[in-house]
Amino acid sequence: MPAVRGLSPYVPGKPISELEREWGVTDIIKLASNENPYGPSPRALAAMQASLAQVWLYPDGGAHELRMALARRLGVAPACLTLGNGSSELLLLLAEAFLTPALSAVYSQYGFAIYRLVISETGARAIEVPAFPADDAAMPYGHDLAAMLAAIRPDTRLVFIANPNNPTGTWAEAALLKRFIERAPASTLIVLDEAYGEYARTLGVADGLAWRAEHPNLLLLRTFSKAYGLAGVRVGYAVSHPEVADVLHRLRPAFNVNSVAQAGAMAALEDETHVADAVAATLSELARVQAALTRSGYRTAPSAANFLLVRIGHRASEVYEALLRQGIITRPLAGYGLPEHLRISIGLPQQNDRLLAALSHGAGRPA
Ligand SMILES: *Cc1c(COP(=O)(O)O)cnc(C)c1O
Repeated sequence: MPAVRGLSPYVPGKPISELEREWGVTDIIKLASNENPYGPSPRALAAMQASLAQVWLYPDGGAHELRMALARRLGVAPACLTLGNGSSELLLLLAEAFLTPALSAVYSQYGFAIYRLVISETGARAIEVPAFPADDAAMPYGHDLAAMLAAIRPDTRLVFIANPNNPTGTWAEAALLKRFIERAPASTLIVLDEAYGEYARTLGVADGLAWRAEHPNLLLLRTFSKAYGLAGVRVGYAVSHPEVADVLHRLRPAFNVNSVAQAGAMAALEDETHVADAVAATLSELARVQAALTRSGYRTAPSAANFLLVRIGHRASEVYEALLRQGIITRPLAGYGLPEHLRISIGLPQQNDRLLAALSHGAGRPA
């Protein structure tokens, strides 16, 4: 596949063990991958531990119980659900299913990096639409949905919208999103990625569940990696028209969601209070960290998620390294065309204090 030679692999946040190994730094905090620092529900931990007794058996390939539980929770038919080894796997399957070198897909500048990767893997044309400008916009760095709609061509089979988006934290107003969904051609599948939906909904951002019935070309993507605190076991899911789910099921590896993950996700889903508490604590810290950064002279993008896009200035890579030396891992964004920015996940209150202290003293002031 010639397309594969042109790919560069996804660069994730630096793992804690790597910083320990390479730099000899200890007492490390990772604010680099938007994980939930409160972790999963204790019930999920117990369920995963209990599931280990059966670990010699293959998992239920259809994840029947988890699918039923999700269907009940969301009020959708089980045939509308496809589970993935994280929602990243579903992004890959969507591209494999719907793209060829003769077709195209649309995404936003600063849109989640995996979109461009999965499009390129198929050899399809990746159409990147300029985002709203960083200055003088109602939603700086945000998806420009009107421009994205205009960029859809007759050969466009997929359009990726992250709401909220990573790494910007920005979101789309319900009215604008609805207009986009109503006007997009039926031949284009709209992938609405709601990885941070639990945070965003708490802040009043609309999700796409209600629009799905009227728009069979709308697919929602959700994950247990963020608010549910289960990034390590890899579970995500798509809610779509059953025909789209059927296509994804044909491509899906037979046992793509392991048994520990299925047990954990099911138990996590039942403990709504745990998720709501973690989300509330994180959002209150988000507001506090954002206000403190603003007071220190940093500019941040609006965020409806559990992280902030912070404009550091031309010294961003120095600041990134200075933070690493102090045991704080953040996410550099040069790969996103944002070399003056860092993405910083919201941690526990004392971790956020450490970050704020480092940014206002040693690590540097805004340039
Ligand atoms: C984290 C993230 C995902 C998915 O992560 P998985 O762990 O693969 O489920 C998807 N989309 C966005 C925008 C994300 O930030």
